[in-house]
Amino acid sequence: MRVSFSFLGFCFTLMAIFSGMATISGCQAQNDSHPTSQDNTDSLKASSWCGVLSPDAYRVLREQGTEPRFSGEFWLHDEDGVYVCMGCGAQLFDSGAKFKSNSGWPSFYKPSITDGVEKRIDFSYGMRRTEVVCNKCDGHLGHVFEDGPPPTGLRYCINSVALDFVPRDSIALKFPISNSVD
Ligand code: FE
Repeated sequence: MRVSFSFLGFCFTLMAIFSGMATISGCQAQNDSHPTSQDNTDSLKASSWCGVLSPDAYRVLREQGTEPRFSGEFWLHDEDGVYVCMGCGAQLFDSGAKFKSNSGWPSFYKPSITDGVEKRIDFSYGMRRTEVVCNKCDGHLGHVFEDGPPPTGLRYCINSVALDFVPRDSIALKFPISNSVD
């Protein structure tokens, strides 16, 4: 049975409210230095990102939060370019794979880099979903559902606050070696 976006949106909005309430004090420690790839183990510790990410980005990326639907910067964004991880800058999704899902979150039918994201089974909130995380920094990005458009039939439902945007004409400068799945 297909569940409507509006019902799922209502559920996720409630989740966003509750997760926000639960994590207001989650980022207690402050750290002025950005986690480095030289110490990958430390870079995965949530406390390392305090003071680096905005409170909203921290709650989503490091504490598996969900931004309220229709609230994010990119759900209606349609510029040409790539979306990168707000935490580590890794290239994640191409605007060419973005589509309007009316879910209230940015939606993509595939990631831009073969190993850019990792999928994990998520049993939180009494549901069985597939979580999507950044493969480089382990940051929570959103979830992927099997109700997307062709050619994959997938809908990567991603939090805007977990993303940053790089215009197409700046990609070569930022990512000199591309590994697109196209
Ligand atoms: Fe990342």
